[in-house]
Amino acid sequence: MASGRRHRSALARVVAQFAADVGPAYLDGRYLPLSEACVSPLDRGFLFGDAVYEVIPVYAGMAFRLEAHLRRLGRSLAQTRIPLPCSDSEWCRIVSGLIERAGGGDLTVYLQVTRGVAPRDHAFPDTTPTVFAMAGPMSQPSEKELRDGVAAVTRPDIRWRRCDIKANSLIGNVLLRQEAIENGAVEAILIREGFAVEGAATNLFIVSNGVIVTPPKGVDLLPGITRDVVLELLRRNELDHEERRIPEAELHTAGEVWITSSTKEVLAVTTLDGAPVGDGRPGSVWHTVRSLLREARGRHAASR
Ligand code: PLP
Repeated sequence: MASGRRHRSALARVVAQFAADVGPAYLDGRYLPLSEACVSPLDRGFLFGDAVYEVIPVYAGMAFRLEAHLRRLGRSLAQTRIPLPCSDSEWCRIVSGLIERAGGGDLTVYLQVTRGVAPRDHAFPDTTPTVFAMAGPMSQPSEKELRDGVAAVTRPDIRWRRCDIKANSLIGNVLLRQEAIENGAVEAILIREGFAVEGAATNLFIVSNGVIVTPPKGVDLLPGITRDVVLELLRRNELDHEERRIPEAELHTAGEVWITSSTKEVLAVTTLDGAPVGDGRPGSVWHTVRSLLREARGRHAASR
């Protein structure tokens, strides 16, 4: 009993320390330390995963592609019919308030809107949405991941049929990412009806016969902001590319495979299902695109 209590209080200390370490939060109209942010267990985000979210990278104290993230959040809210809780300028104020309280620099800002707190019933309640946000340290790819690339595994896509919505109901993604980790990989690349669609929490690019290919937007995949930035850079630099479906067999014969996201940026997959991709090293096209992305971020940071 006593040892159980000791264990719980040690755990509470670790949780409180972690919460304090990861910085400030915002909940329903006020800023507060993350360790003090409390949400009712009747919140529909908790009970149903009835919520949508965004993860926004911040470089040198400036949110990267904030407008695009807010546009996608607005779309996720509209598609899930969660009432819009804030105008764009209110979102901008919340984001900059968190960045300021976190002391600027490189950060990740997380925004979440749930359908609100109500007695448990599947049908929509008549309630106001819960708005939660926090700022924390940015997790960037390690030097080793950039130098050597990472391993990925393929898995059948077990997720729901509206993967274009950035919804908090992420149990499928969680199980898939965990399976990847348990197989010594950093990501699971998901196969639906014979085509590679995206990763558990990343978008997918391959280089096939010298052409960069990524699957087109649609209900099978999240319209990633990093994916859009990469496509913009490919267009601007006249690099040969296509948006088309990728048959599973083509994924396995591609010269290069990359995954993209706001936190993984653009990472080369150098081992797929235990076999080397190309010569097993990050490829030359990845190096070019990685530099272009770095420059774009540098320009963004310098524009303040
Ligand atoms: N696909 C899925 C399923 C994701 O969860 C994410 C990011 O979390 C992405 C793609 C990449 O999106 P973004 O570049 O906007 O971070």
